[in-house]
Amino acid sequence: MNFCSQCGSNQLSYKIPEGDTHQRFVCDHCGRIFYANPRIIVGCLPVYQDKIMLCKRAIEPQLGLWNLPAGFLENGEKAEEGAVRETFEESEANVHILKLHVVFSLPKVNQVYLHFLADLKDTHFGPTQETLEVRLFKKDEIPWEEIAFHSTTYALEKYFEFGKTYPGVHVGSYDGKQKWEK
Ligand SMILES: [Zn+2]
Repeated sequence: MNFCSQCGSNQLSYKIPEGDTHQRFVCDHCGRIFYANPRIIVGCLPVYQDKIMLCKRAIEPQLGLWNLPAGFLENGEKAEEGAVRETFEESEANVHILKLHVVFSLPKVNQVYLHFLADLKDTHFGPTQETLEVRLFKKDEIPWEEIAFHSTTYALEKYFEFGKTYPGVHVGSYDGKQKWEK
């Protein structure tokens, strides 16, 4: 960070503000403290009968690998709304959310995933600008070696282990770096 977005000063310190616990950028001129917090990624685990819908990524990182539809939550948006929007943007699929399925933390890259379990309303779906291919997979067809992100692997494993009617939320994390993280 080079400039204070409040006063324009280039005199910034990186320090622990008084009474705080973490280092922050602090403007030496106007005193503004800049908080950096994890980003929230929302998406769905879309289910149709005994199949799961996955999207093959058309964008980096992990281009060409399979993933559950998900993306960054927007300001002013509810988590479940963002999950439905991201699912449509990546697959043109319309989903009905059933429940929160997974909370998955990636502290090394400052991200938290929320995956919602959802019913596919019908089998209308297809590739988009973000997605090369969309298809339904039975359990024994899941391409485990070609899954883009750890959160998707975790969400799929928990779904197949505990089923659709499990009342709780699965809480997981990955402490290493994502394969793609530079
Ligand atoms: Zn300032």
